[in-house]
Amino acid sequence: MKKTVAAVVTVIVVALVTFVFYDGVLNKTSEADFFSMKTYVTAKVTGYESDLCTDEIQKIVDNLDVNVLSRTAEDSLVSSVNKSGGGQLDIQTAAYVSLLLDVCEKSGGAFDFTLGAVSDLWKFGSTPEIPDPNALADALSHSGYKKISLEGGNLVMQDKSAVLDFGASGKGIALDSVKAYLETRDIKNAVVSVGGSTLLYGDKDFTVGIRNPEGNAGSYIAKLHMNEGCVSSSGSYEQFFEENGKRYHHILNPETGYPVDNGLVGVTIVSDSGLLSDALSTACFVLGIEKGSSLAAEYGCTAIFVTSDKKIYIEGDADIVEITDASYTYGN
Ligand code: AMP
Ligand code: MG
Repeated sequence: MKKTVAAVVTVIVVALVTFVFYDGVLNKTSEADFFSMKTYVTAKVTGYESDLCTDEIQKIVDNLDVNVLSRTAEDSLVSSVNKSGGGQLDIQTAAYVSLLLDVCEKSGGAFDFTLGAVSDLWKFGSTPEIPDPNALADALSHSGYKKISLEGGNLVMQDKSAVLDFGASGKGIALDSVKAYLETRDIKNAVVSVGGSTLLYGDKDFTVGIRNPEGNAGSYIAKLHMNEGCVSSSGSYEQFFEENGKRYHHILNPETGYPVDNGLVGVTIVSDSGLLSDALSTACFVLGIEKGSSLAAEYGCTAIFVTSDKKIYIEGDADIVEITDASYTYGN
């Protein structure tokens, strides 16, 4: 009898240890943070293949930056297209460009990824300054998405001085690449942030903060409660300088070449697509609340607009938004 009890106890203990061991293996979490695409990238992956995934995520983002989208990396595809005034794109990049052209068109040109030469004049990456008006007018005259077209994967630039810039969409594109990879791996969930764009992946309830435009990077004014998807924010708090009491930031009005000044301080977009969340956050910032809401609705995305007078306007699924800073109130 004693032997039977001992045997049963042994089986239970072995089963428990095995369960705890396998649970630990299946639910292990791996984290990585690194610098890529001129911003901070963080990845937190839970599941059996989490270690493999965090290593691979870094390779995917770095590869996309250095070999494809960066316009400062010598040998990237975009650098080569900019230098040659056009060129053949791979299928994936052509698909991204095609969708970006659609955003340019639907936003009425508020989103324009040919503004590279105009952005450069503001020198946000180094020592920002107000550009010389003649230089700005000249750079603007060579910009404009209508000057480029896709012909069977071949990117044609009518004005060879136009400069493609994926600054407003590259981080979201990185999320789409990472997501496509994660779908092939054995993991439960993941949160991957590339600058202001975040991928929430897996069957889980996620909470994402909307940054306080007046505070530092760790301070939030609202929370989004959501399932998997992509969230991107654009704001005048990201890259800016002040001169004579006026703030000049990095999101430009393609008509004037000057920073957008429409009372918005931040826009957040929720979408299934990383590219759309990123591109639309910039586009909606430029368009303002009314036209930006229509654009977000056209793509079936939720948009959250934050104004300088501390109002929060929502287009789409308002239920996911919880204001956590009492100095902000709903505008609609
Ligand atoms: P984001 O932080 O995603 O809003 O992207 C801002 C970056 O996109 C800037 O640093 C520029 O490189 C680029 N950019 C600025 N204005 C525009 C615009 N109107 N349309 C597309 N890209 C822009
Ligand atoms: Mg963007």
